[in-house]
Order: sequence, then C-alpha cells, then structure tokens
Amino acid sequence: MGLLEGKVALITGAARGQGRAHAVTCAREGADVVLVDVDSEVSATTYGLATADDHAETVKLVEEYGRRAVDVVADVRDQAALDAAVARALAELGRIDIVIANAGIHSFGPFWELDDAAWDDMVGTNLTGVWRTVKAATPHLIERGSGSVVVTASVNGLEATAGFTHYVAAKHGVIGLMKNMAVELAPHGVRCNAIAPGAIDTPMTNHQQFWDWFAGREGGTQDEWVAGGRHYGVLQGTTFLTPQVIADTALYLNSDLAAHVTGVTIPVDSGHLLLPG
Ligand code: NAD
Repeated sequence: MGLLEGKVALITGAARGQGRAHAVTCAREGADVVLVDVDSEVSATTYGLATADDHAETVKLVEEYGRRAVDVVADVRDQAALDAAVARALAELGRIDIVIANAGIHSFGPFWELDDAAWDDMVGTNLTGVWRTVKAATPHLIERGSGSVVVTASVNGLEATAGFTHYVAAKHGVIGLMKNMAVELAPHGVRCNAIAPGAIDTPMTNHQQFWDWFAGREGGTQDEWVAGGRHYGVLQGTTFLTPQVIADTALYLNSDLAAHVTGVTIPVDSGHLLLPG
C-alpha cells in the first residue's frame, strides 16, 4: 500500500522536471493526479517551457502506474483557468487532497537592467501563480477539513544571489506566503509547507546560460556546469540533484508521516546554505 493511497494530487508545472517527478511519485504511491502545465512559451526564457509532448509523456508515466491523470493546459497566472482545473478535478476525480504548487521560470539580469516584462513574468508566475493555485483549491480543502499543500521555493528564497533579483524576490515571497497560508489553513486541518531545492538537473538549469554562469564566463560548457554543481553543496559527493530527491521530500510532507508538520521550509541542497554567502 502506497503512502498516498486513494488520494488526489493537483500539481502545477507537471509536464517535465520536478513537476513530472512529483506526478510519477504520487502515482507510484497510489494517488490520481491533475497535471497542470502551460505547454507554450508564455514567458521569455532562453531555455523554453514545456511542450504538449512533455505533458503527454507525464500522463503516460502516471498511467503506467495504473492511476488516473487529468491533464489541464493552464497558465498559473490565470485564476479562471486554475478554478476550472479544480472544478474538472472534482468532476472527474471527486476530490483533491494534495496541492503541489511547483510551476516556475528562471531568468538572469542585474536588477537595474530588468524590464517590466521580466519582473512581471517572474513575480506573476513564481509568486502570484503559487497564491492563485492554492487559492483555487482552498475552498475544497476547507470543506473536506484536511489536505496538504507543498509549495516550491528555492534556496533563493533564503539567500541572495547576484543576477537573480526578481527570482530571489519571488522565492522569498513564496516562503512568506507559505507561512501565512499555513497559519490560516491550520484551523481547517490543512497543512502547508515549502521545499527549497538547491541545484537540480532540469531544463531550467541545464542550458547555455547556466553553463556560462557556473563557468564564470561566456561560452561555458556543460562539463563546467557539472563541475560547478560539485562545489554547490558541502555534502560529500555533491552534484546536481535529480528531481526525484525533491519529489521524495514532497512525498514525506504530503503523507501522514508529516501529519504534525506545517509552516516549515525544507532545504534540499546538499548543505549549500551552510556555505558563506
Ligand atoms: P522546469 O523548467 O523543468 O519546470 C518548470 C515547469 O513549469 C515547466 O514544465 C513549465 O512549462 C512550467 N511553467 C512555467 N511557467 C508556467 C506558467 N505560467 N503556467 C503553468 N506552468 C508553467 O524546471 P524545474 O527545475 O522542474 O522547476 C520547478 C520548480 O522548482 C520551479 O518553481 C523552480 O523555480 C524551482 N526550483 C528549481 C531549481 C533547479 O535547480 N532546477 C532550484 C530551486 C527551485
């Protein structure tokens, strides 16, 4: 019997990366899933967002575990679309027990060079999108009197990094948002926690701009990025982590093992935050 047997999880950014790992892990542990992703280039990134093919692959992987998958194409900045996703989940799967607000983007730039579009895309997706996602599911969670919400922050929700201002601001906001949602949901039996991933190997980080960033120069290589990942944390054997380690942490938080855990942020970063900033 799985840790999430008979539950339903709604996951944003579910088409690939950490979102896919969350979806497959929930399915493996006995949950049906609602897979929300935008499937198009709605924000300016140099690496590109997920595609319809990515989304379909996650559906297939979930179904291989014999679980049901409801796939929803929605932008987490669109409240009506998220409300409709929740309505579809309730119509087709009957309930929602778990919300994993994971969708996010990344881009670079000193704060004085960011234009309004870059700022608004970042805050709209990575912070407001989390609020909108949890907001959409909350009336149902309150009605049920139980549930678990996990929001994806970052070590950048707990530290500064030059060149990441808008990302850092949004992720610090996610942790504040999580704490307040935890306080307001607690009387209703609903828990809310955050995960702060360190360096994870996903399409968000494994591309030329991040290769350059880890190399400290333009024209960086993937090998230099891998070498940079080895110095990111303090644990022996530190490297870029797989999305699975984040999904494992969410599994703990969403299971009864964490029945008395709410309002916390768990860094999963090989001890990166122990290093001087
Ligand atoms: P990813 O780019 O592979 O996945 C992000 C997903 O979010 C994609 O499928 C994308 O299509 C989706 N998405 C983006 N904008 C959206 C929107 N407006 N509406 C709906 N979906 C949207 O990257 P990932 O590493 O899996 O990122 C998952 C989360 O983890 C993000 O919140 C990210 O900020 C966070 N994070 C990542 C790392 C890392 O090292 N990869 C570290 C810390 C935190």
